[in-house]
Amino acid sequence: MTVGISIPAELPAAAEAYAEAGIKVFRVRRNKTPYANCPRCDRQSSLYIKHRPDDCRCGVPTCHGFYAATTNVDLVRRWWKEEPDANIGGPCKLNGWAVIDIDPRNGGRESYQALEERVGVLPGTTLQITGGDGLHMIYRSPGFDLPGLGGPGIDFKHNGYILLAPSVHSSGGRYQWAGNGEFLAPETDWPASLLPRKQRRPAPPARTIPRHRFPAQERRPQRPGGGRMWTVEDLVQHIMDAHEGTRNNAFYFAACRAHELAEQDLIDLGEAEMGLLSAASAVGLTDSEAHASFDSASTRPGDRGWVA
Ligand SMILES: [Zn+2]
Ligand SMILES: [Zn+2]
Repeated sequence: MTVGISIPAELPAAAEAYAEAGIKVFRVRRNKTPYANCPRCDRQSSLYIKHRPDDCRCGVPTCHGFYAATTNVDLVRRWWKEEPDANIGGPCKLNGWAVIDIDPRNGGRESYQALEERVGVLPGTTLQITGGDGLHMIYRSPGFDLPGLGGPGIDFKHNGYILLAPSVHSSGGRYQWAGNGEFLAPETDWPASLLPRKQRRPAPPARTIPRHRFPAQERRPQRPGGGRMWTVEDLVQHIMDAHEGTRNNAFYFAACRAHELAEQDLIDLGEAEMGLLSAASAVGLTDSEAHASFDSASTRPGDRGWVA
């Protein structure tokens, strides 16, 4: 039987309550930029050593955004003692969640209706009302990454994070769990009707591939005439390697390549989007910037065959 967890109204106590319940949390600034990186992980520092977040060995548990998430109650207590106003981030995949994020400001309600008309009514599950009057439908992760978009205003979140109640939305509203305000661990599996077609079989055993290794890159297509084509991993690395001031361009460049490659069926667009957006957030681009840039890349006149 599922027992709800009552969540205190204050952010520091709430963060501890999640950690105690085994939910990994990390601090998110109100402007969504990451908390202090150590010099080895801070790209502005002369001590910076080039590495990807999932390969980090620095041991400083605040580096790299949601990779820092923890259930260590002492650490969580210390984090929120330092920053009592920090919002509470909960990574989706790392907590075993896959989330439908409905944003009414971008047409999410209409898209949700259209989605249900297409695939049927979605099963009930844990619901969170976002501070922006949107909705999170939290399901159990299917164990692999999902295509990112369910239509305008609807994100399928897996390789990312959501804010948890009582975090404060940019509009000033607070996130809250639906019903009596208690958190219920999701017990409903991600709807089969929303799985990519090739995945509509029983879920495979838990992946042993390290995070951020993209299965699609195993197909390394050759460009006619020799040079290697871009893989999702290359595109992610391209963003991670960009210098301050060129990151927007690097992201847009990578997004254009991703759309071109997906159009030729060489990579999975959803997977690429997920990878690129998490790289964008790791280098400090805002979600909305990155989303807008990714979408605008799809309508750009192509220059096919571009390789590095
Ligand atoms: Zn570090
Ligand atoms: Zn690091």
